[in-house]
Amino acid sequence: MFENKDTSRTAISSLGEFGLIDHLTKHFKITQKSTVLGIGDDAAILDFDAKKQVVVTTDMLVEGVHFDLSYMPLKHLGYKSVMVNLSDVYAMNALPSQITVSIAVSNRFPVEALEELYAGIQAAADAYKVDVIGGDTTSSTAGLVISITAIGQVDAKKVTRRDTAKEGDLIVVSGDFGAAYLGLQVLEREKQVFKVNPNSQPDLEKYTYLVERQLKPEARKDITALLTKLDVVPTSMIDVSDGLSSEVIHICKQSKVGCNLYEDKIPLDPQVINTCEEFNMDSTTIALSGGEDYELLFTVKQDDFLKIKANPYLSIIGHVVKESEGLHLITRANTKVPLIARGWNSLEENE
Ligand code: ADP
Ligand code: MG
Repeated sequence: MFENKDTSRTAISSLGEFGLIDHLTKHFKITQKSTVLGIGDDAAILDFDAKKQVVVTTDMLVEGVHFDLSYMPLKHLGYKSVMVNLSDVYAMNALPSQITVSIAVSNRFPVEALEELYAGIQAAADAYKVDVIGGDTTSSTAGLVISITAIGQVDAKKVTRRDTAKEGDLIVVSGDFGAAYLGLQVLEREKQVFKVNPNSQPDLEKYTYLVERQLKPEARKDITALLTKLDVVPTSMIDVSDGLSSEVIHICKQSKVGCNLYEDKIPLDPQVINTCEEFNMDSTTIALSGGEDYELLFTVKQDDFLKIKANPYLSIIGHVVKESEGLHLITRANTKVPLIARGWNSLEENE
């Protein structure tokens, strides 16, 4: 990390556009039944089960806006770009089957850099069993841009939208919150240290979980499988990319309901708690506003309480109330404060 490895550099121009596409994509294999034709023609051909619905989602990542290559290795970037898209597919309760990958790249990147990026994309495609079926390659005058589109399938009866939560439902999350945000803070801090002293070695021992959550997030395909096993179809679902509070607000606004969240129920990793103490930050604020957790947030009927309650991968953090009751966080001190997109209200007042 932070070093300029002096490996060989092959100019992109030496391969040409078609040579480059071929070079980067020749290792991709088709494994999905629904992929009739992948890379190589004007368009890919897909053939889905007529009983299923198809979901499609796209995310674009821009250098300097969504990632910083001084601490984000290209292989991790490739992996993460796929994860952020698959996470959206799982959030529909669907199973991803194909992705397309489009890149805009400047000639400051050698072919070797794109090989790294594609190694990460391939690792993700292999691990999540999705076919890379196409994309586009173009030049950019400045930074790197990656746009990935993911396609998935779901039973019409099981598709989970954002606008279907009902009063009385329980609010459930997978995993824990705030770690990826803190991972970014740790990496930013090390980058500043490195700028002053290029010989310094980053000391990331204490923050391994945080850094991993930032650099190598995993989309929660296991939760989709778990819900199927538990025979639970969420009444609504969203993935947590922008921060827990912001996603809860999305579900509530779109479903025209309110909510009560309980501060003491929000799952936190011990590294998040310790690092918040070290950085003098409030762990609840970080968990609610941090973002990039790529966990799933969903609502279930109260009848499903017993199925969810004992599960170690899931936490019930609140419940849905009437729209007129508003959106609130019940703090550890048992006070009720309005939930806002960036954390919760009483903190804003302290800032
Ligand atoms: P067209 O001129 O029809 O747009 P391209 O030359 O852009 O075709 O692409 C040729 C083939 O390679 C197509 O199947 C396209 O989907 C695929 N492709 C192009 N760029 C990428 C990429 N960066 N990653 C994966 N597949 C790509
Ligand atoms: Mg093209």
